[in-house]
Amino acid sequence: MAATKRITADVVVIGAGIVGTAIARELSKYELSVVLVEKEADVAFGTTKANTALVHAGYDADPGTLKAKLNVAGNALYPKITQELGVLYKNTGSLVVALDEDQMLHIHELKIRGEKNGVPRLEVIPAERLLELEPHVNPDAVGALWAPTGGITCPWELAIAYTENAVLNGARVLLSSPVIGIDVHEGRVTTVHCPNISIDARFVVNAAGVWADDIERMAGRDDFEVTPRRGEYYLFDKRASRIVARPLFPVPTPFSKGIVVAPTVDGNLLAGPNSVLTGRKDDYATTAPGLAEVLEGARKLIPDLPVREAITNFAGLRAVAEPGGDFIIGVSPGLSNFINAAGIQSPGLTAAPAIAEMVRDILSDVGLELMEKPDFDPIRKRPLRFTELTREEQARMVAEDPKWGHIICRCETVTEAEIVAALHSPVPCTTVDGVKFRTRAGAGRCQGGFCGPRVVAIIARELGIPVEKVTKKGGKSRIVMGPSKEPLLECSCSVEGMEKEVGDDV
Ligand SMILES: Cc1cc2nc3c(=O)[nH]c(=O)nc-3n(C[C@H](O)[C@H](O)[C@H](O)COP(=O)(O)OP(=O)(O)OC[C@H]3O[C@@H](n4cnc5c(N)ncnc54)[C@H](O)[C@@H]3O)c2cc1C
Repeated sequence: MAATKRITADVVVIGAGIVGTAIARELSKYELSVVLVEKEADVAFGTTKANTALVHAGYDADPGTLKAKLNVAGNALYPKITQELGVLYKNTGSLVVALDEDQMLHIHELKIRGEKNGVPRLEVIPAERLLELEPHVNPDAVGALWAPTGGITCPWELAIAYTENAVLNGARVLLSSPVIGIDVHEGRVTTVHCPNISIDARFVVNAAGVWADDIERMAGRDDFEVTPRRGEYYLFDKRASRIVARPLFPVPTPFSKGIVVAPTVDGNLLAGPNSVLTGRKDDYATTAPGLAEVLEGARKLIPDLPVREAITNFAGLRAVAEPGGDFIIGVSPGLSNFINAAGIQSPGLTAAPAIAEMVRDILSDVGLELMEKPDFDPIRKRPLRFTELTREEQARMVAEDPKWGHIICRCETVTEAEIVAALHSPVPCTTVDGVKFRTRAGAGRCQGGFCGPRVVAIIARELGIPVEKVTKKGGKSRIVMGPSKEPLLECSCSVEGMEKEVGDDV
């Protein structure tokens, strides 16, 4: 058996979701050794990969809660953060739609609540204005809450970008490294153990999502319990996206913001989530009753929902923490150098940039010296995407490297060059899902039916491993079970002479 390696760190951040990656990037601004530890094969493989991807305005949470405060603060940071990190973000605004006069009362309450939370420019609008903004909305709607600061982004792209920027600024990332034990001595955490590596740490941040209570228990504390609440979704083809221009919410329930119909920042349409208590932290199943509930809810907002354009379903898990139900962010009682960033359910994606700043300040309060790095570079360049280049740029790239003219994913027009770049990026991916999250190969209408084998072959070639070793998302999720008679990379289409219309449905 290989000997366990031992390293040291000023700060170990456990969990590479949007929260852990935002914290790692924030800490990489300072003269610190930071290690981000993730049990999965890639970043953003937990709740961060499966949510509604909305940058909430902040009218929903109860005033005075961390959720309310950090939502509004996080929302305000999005334009700058996404620009620095080269991540897609659109300030679309959002609407909460009232379908009767009772719901209209709730809309007025939401406006008051939002104003208490500090949400700017909230407005109650009449049905006529709502219909002007969203012509496909339920004609029975009587009015809406208009929140101009709402927006949409891509959660995994942001988590990847945070991590890449952290790494370029000196942080270290350990993937496929589950934390399996934590040593404590005289009220301080001393060492974090993974199967092949142990990290002697001065400070530890617990950002382990639905598993955060298990991590705290490893350190001998039992201060909160995380109960996963599943939300299921429909994702629709880009052809359906024109049906709404901005996220539409129903009037919320005590458990969730309700079933939303929203455009995605990549041009798809999304409907969901429902809200189902589940006893398991790995229960990402979609169910027939759950999906029926999603459709029923979505049709209340958009009666002509183009269901035939659905391309996939998925589910995400909310990390509901009790007691309190609020975010749990602070020093773990009795462990002076162990900070929880737990119970980060919605609006955690929106709040993440502000959570990172809050955790930084807590670390400073408990003794971490924050000396700014003179050479910190806040910029992470957006990876080149063929579809985002002009025709001239495309032609130049193809002339420089024929891999730019080799379309692997026809639905999303992703080239071999983009996939190769993703496999050699600052946080290189090693799985089919990792390639999908970085390039969108396999995220289109056929969901990888066409490009899947070709992506597998490119991963195998670039990583120098047999195709049988390539996985969908790490662990045992193998795709090819034995040697293939046919080479997997043949019969893909080229953009010879650029005659193919880019973006055409093939
Ligand atoms: C259905 C749904 C819809 C949502 N919609 C929105 C929205 O529109 N807008 C919004 O702002 N928020 C939304 N949210 C909330 C948002 O998605 C979450 O708050 C956010 O993704 C949580 O990020 P996280 O980093 O805390 O957790 P995660 O993304 O789950 O990351 C935690 C990481 O810890 C890792 N980990 C766990 N145990 C270990 C271990 N032992 N060792 C090492 N690593 C470990 C996990 O593998 C995981 O990668 C939604 C959530 C859900 C479920």
